[in-house]
Amino acid sequence: MVLDDETFMLKLVAHMLKRLGFKSVITYDNGLAALEWVALNSGQSTLILLDLNMPDMDGMEFVRKLVALNYAGTLILISGEDERILQTAEKLVRAHNINALGHLNKPVTMEQLSAMIDKSFLLQSQPEVAKKTYRVGELHAAIANGELINYYQPKVSVTTAMLIGVETLVRWQHPVDGLVFPDQFIGLAEEHGLIDALSEVVIRNALVQAKKWLTAGLHLHIAINVSMNNLTSLTFADFVYQEAVTAGVSPLDIMLEVTESRLMLDQRIPLEVLTRLRLKRFRLSIDDFGTGHSSLAQLRDIPFDELKIDQSFVRGARHDDTARAIYHASLALGQQLGMAVVAEGVEDIEDWKMVRNSQCEQAQGYFIGSPMPATDLPQWLADWTQRMPPTPVVQP
Ligand code: C2E
Ligand code: CA
Ligand code: CA
Repeated sequence: MVLDDETFMLKLVAHMLKRLGFKSVITYDNGLAALEWVALNSGQSTLILLDLNMPDMDGMEFVRKLVALNYAGTLILISGEDERILQTAEKLVRAHNINALGHLNKPVTMEQLSAMIDKSFLLQSQPEVAKKTYRVGELHAAIANGELINYYQPKVSVTTAMLIGVETLVRWQHPVDGLVFPDQFIGLAEEHGLIDALSEVVIRNALVQAKKWLTAGLHLHIAINVSMNNLTSLTFADFVYQEAVTAGVSPLDIMLEVTESRLMLDQRIPLEVLTRLRLKRFRLSIDDFGTGHSSLAQLRDIPFDELKIDQSFVRGARHDDTARAIYHASLALGQQLGMAVVAEGVEDIEDWKMVRNSQCEQAQGYFIGSPMPATDLPQWLADWTQRMPPTPVVQP
């Protein structure tokens, strides 16, 4: 269905859809009539191309009414408005749980439309599998049975492409389900008081691995994710320090990445723990900077050494003026405060070029290397050195 108050646009887009192979294309020039059709045809799989600006009922109002009809089809937004309005509208549609394929700027071209529809068929052919949820007892047993293993993702210098360190990312090697990702069990661990036990295993394994690499002649910085819940325990700083001493790894080589995913009512204990970690010479990183509570007030209050710019401001930022502006502002802020800055989510060569041109120091992402078991790191390093040989930049 095409819904647009301009008759010419209706004809044009309908024609394009027919050329793309859609057998049945209906057009409406007002929201009310279109809604009636939707109400009567709820059994059909429908794609609606919706103009945002219409005189009687505008696109956003139309979407709200679609939600009331439990619309289960897909939607593409079309408008001559500026990119930011279209982006926000698209986010709003998704927040209503309507499958939005994307947005198109007027005038719509055949290339744009066909690319977006192709994407839709791709999505249809890979339906998202509902993620399994686990019970707390299962996770408890997994921790005790040593089923949690660490993966490591390389962090490289942007100027020289040299490997600087790795970030530790936990995985659950489930005996039946295979590799389970942290978004399926970190929250569970936090809610049920298992996060300390989980972090102890992750930290111990990471430090033992760091020492192995050191012995093999590979001096790497090891980053470890720390939950805000870990920091509510006064013994956490002593625990990490003891583990570092036991493993024989200097705290200076250990970066603790902190994200505040929920609001902490009482900041006193976390602040004490973080300050004591700094006094013991561990290094602290503010993770996912620019999102949630990972923000300016934290920069002011906590002595961070490193700032990681959230992936959402890096990946594909060349197409997104707002994301790029936030990226550059975060980078400048980190640099002004004397912090090391890492760009996360560098997914392709274009992201890498953007980061490289921006004078950001370090980068991490699928383009460089995905998280991998420790044993794969030497092979990755050999491949990376081939692919991106270190090229020292001549200082002006
Ligand atoms: P994070 O700390 O922000 O870690 C980065 C996540 O982004 C990782 O997901 C990583 O695999 C993924 N990633 C890396 N490069 C790219 C890229 O180029 N593109 C995209 N789209 N993604 C990329 P993962 O491993 O699933 O971890 C998710 C989150 O779980 C982590 O986010 C972290 O907050 C948490 N987490 C992981 N391990 C631990 C842990 O040991 N303790 C705690 N408390 N949290 C952990
Ligand atoms: Ca992290
Ligand atoms: Ca992050």
